[in-house]
Amino acid sequence: MHEATAATLRIDLGALVDNYRLIQHAAAPAAVAGVVKADAYGLGAVEISGAIFDAGCRHFFVAHLCEAMALRPHLPPAATLYVLNGLHPGAEAECAAIDVVPVLNSLEQVDAWSACARTLGRSLPAVLQVDTGMSRLGLMPQDATALAAQPHRLDHVDLLLLMSHLACADHPDDAFNQQQWASFRAIADLFPGVPLSLDNSGGALAMRPDHGDLVRAGIALYGGAPHDSANPMHPVITLDAYIIQLRRVPAGTGVGYGLAHRCDRPSHIATISVGYADGWPRNLGSVGSAFIDGVRAPIVGRVSMDSMTIDVTDVPDHLLYPGAPVELIGPHQSIDAVATQAGTISYEILTRLGRRYGRDYLPVPIAASTGAL
Ligand SMILES: *Cc1c(COP(=O)(O)O)cnc(C)c1O
Repeated sequence: MHEATAATLRIDLGALVDNYRLIQHAAAPAAVAGVVKADAYGLGAVEISGAIFDAGCRHFFVAHLCEAMALRPHLPPAATLYVLNGLHPGAEAECAAIDVVPVLNSLEQVDAWSACARTLGRSLPAVLQVDTGMSRLGLMPQDATALAAQPHRLDHVDLLLLMSHLACADHPDDAFNQQQWASFRAIADLFPGVPLSLDNSGGALAMRPDHGDLVRAGIALYGGAPHDSANPMHPVITLDAYIIQLRRVPAGTGVGYGLAHRCDRPSHIATISVGYADGWPRNLGSVGSAFIDGVRAPIVGRVSMDSMTIDVTDVPDHLLYPGAPVELIGPHQSIDAVATQAGTISYEILTRLGRRYGRDYLPVPIAASTGAL
């Protein structure tokens, strides 16, 4: 327990590595890249990258150049770090200077990167992203065709990967996945010999004979369900708040802002140490739950900024005292369960995790930490 903090976030690096291996097994012979954007979905990019590097991971993706600048010094030289959102106009020299690989998303970015390489008098690595139907990032197929017909535009650019992104990977049976793979292969024929990367977590864990050369896994590494069927991943985090104060109130008492909850019986109310400023969804007020030693304690009333109130009338008294731990995410409540109740996805629950938590990283057990020796 971190007494000075809002709650204790425990991050199990052994479970993370187990998930890395599970994805590796599902996607083989494709390699697995760790997507560590947004501070590894809130779990800590430095710690997460280090643990999967030791398990053999050599490819890492962030979204922004600033994330790459922060992470690069912590990664060994053997790690390749890619920037998904591409090259911000004017940032080419900065990008080239710090040994990161931009994902080029337009012909303008291709030309700018090639020009930067010419200026520096050396070739520069890049990923070329094509849009295979998601309408988000990447060259349109006709731009890719035009580029393939003018190969000089890639002078001094060393293409490490051709990539695209799946729109419907969380539904493995959606026919659009096949359609995107087919479009991707057609474009790949224009760039022979360049390794291919299309699948994210959902794609990597879908039953498909071929996953290309590199899958880009985020949510599945962190224990979230990669798609809409049973979740094969190991849970990676637990989040324990603690009881700040307890009170017994008569039936009819109002609780919290707006007195949004009225006790319908004499009730035992605990105020716990996490609120919406800690990333706990405010719309779980009077909807969500906490658990104390496995006993459900419903959230009553609105979620405040720094605390919320739970009804502990049905929880045995010996478990209730100031400082007692209260499970918000753990064996009784997964990140996907919290997300479903809050009307969102596990990605959002993770990336909102509070900065006021004490973080404990459980190390990878010695026997499991082989792979890169
Ligand atoms: C975020 C992201 C990923 C990782 O997706 P998950 O569903 O978390 O595995 C992969 N590729 C791209 C382009 C992304 O933006």
